[in-house]
Amino acid sequence: MKAVLLIEDDDALRPMIAAALEQNGWKVLTAEDGEAGLELARQHRPEVVVCDLLMPRCNGYQVCRAIRATPELRTTRIVMISGRGYATDKMNALEAGADDYLVKPVEPHELRETLRRLTSEKCSEEIKRPAAQGASGPARVKFWGVRGSIASPGPSTVFYGGNTSCLEVRADGEIIVLDAGTGIRALGLALSQEFNGTPMNLTLLLTHTHWDHIQGFPFFVPAYNPKNTVRILGYEGARQGLAATLGTQMESPYFPVGMKELPGNITIEELRDMEFTVGKVQVRAMFVNHPGICVGYRLHTSGGDIVFIPDNEPFHRMRSKPEGADAKALEFAEQQDAKLIEFIRGADVLVIDAQYDREEYEQRVGWGHACIDDVAEMAVRAKVKQLFLFHHDPTHDDERVSRMLAHARQIAAQQNGFETIVDAAREGLEVVLKG
Ligand SMILES: [Zn+2]
Ligand SMILES: [Zn+2]
Repeated sequence: MKAVLLIEDDDALRPMIAAALEQNGWKVLTAEDGEAGLELARQHRPEVVVCDLLMPRCNGYQVCRAIRATPELRTTRIVMISGRGYATDKMNALEAGADDYLVKPVEPHELRETLRRLTSEKCSEEIKRPAAQGASGPARVKFWGVRGSIASPGPSTVFYGGNTSCLEVRADGEIIVLDAGTGIRALGLALSQEFNGTPMNLTLLLTHTHWDHIQGFPFFVPAYNPKNTVRILGYEGARQGLAATLGTQMESPYFPVGMKELPGNITIEELRDMEFTVGKVQVRAMFVNHPGICVGYRLHTSGGDIVFIPDNEPFHRMRSKPEGADAKALEFAEQQDAKLIEFIRGADVLVIDAQYDREEYEQRVGWGHACIDDVAEMAVRAKVKQLFLFHHDPTHDDERVSRMLAHARQIAAQQNGFETIVDAAREGLEVVLKG
């Protein structure tokens, strides 16, 4: 006898539907909420799950995704039932893994016919599994947003790009997104095109929650597809939790879709440790000198090490004073800068805040961003192989960034002992690590 599991929290509806199916020769198991239903599904492996959409504890989308993620249930068919006939609900259900979607009140003959049809199709057919994510090929980094502070599109920034902080890293089978500035919008579109409906698993590492590092997230298309899994990792800010801070920018005065309404399978995890892993990629974080809570990340991949420090003000120049420096303050500054040098040491790719030139920095001491001379010097001292100047100032046009790049190259060349390749980050540039 074929078994059907009915997950329905409506106490009046559940026995009615169960009776109609039993009459038709089905063995019927019932559960009152999604969690209990999933437990039964795993125990009994029914041929079909009939599942309500809106339920306490675990909604129908979550049930679908959990079933589709369970190898033993790969042949189980799922029929979602719901009082809501919105086309988007149906689309989301199918994308979450349901085989069909029926609008309540569901007629007994309609349900029986749907079950007959689904179970007479090839039951042994495997449900399409999420594809391995970029499992092959060398590690690579792509720039999607390179600007600091605020997006600055226009003809004068068209070469380096006007979008704010966002990088894509592909390494060891993982897709890791660094920051969610406005550049993440175009990344989301590119990923959707590439995966073309196949589920994707992404990890988003946030350095901090200043606007230029999170503002693109509401426009990140993969977050709107229930088949996708987006894991957001970052550290708690000064006032409230990471989830609350990210949710605030999507509250109704600012954005039409709330964070919790996003249909994608999104988790937000506050990091506590400074070392963790994303799949096989080992990640180290370091708190840097920038207003609020801000970190840099070092990704240790099989293809090499990538360091991302989008916002940081080195201490030494900040603590130096024209009238003569306080020796203690300078000693402290040097110790702090030495820690940063250790953190970036030997990196294959270093992407780091280089917002100001020397004259400009004098007017911006204590703003939390770097003077380009210091960045170039430190990169050479740390024997970084490839340095990318990042967080370009919104007022700097392409010509200005190119001039700053030329200056940074000069500074790097004057240092003894190591040849660091210096470049300026620009949108669309992809760097393949040699491994
Ligand atoms: Zn920034
Ligand atoms: Zn910042």
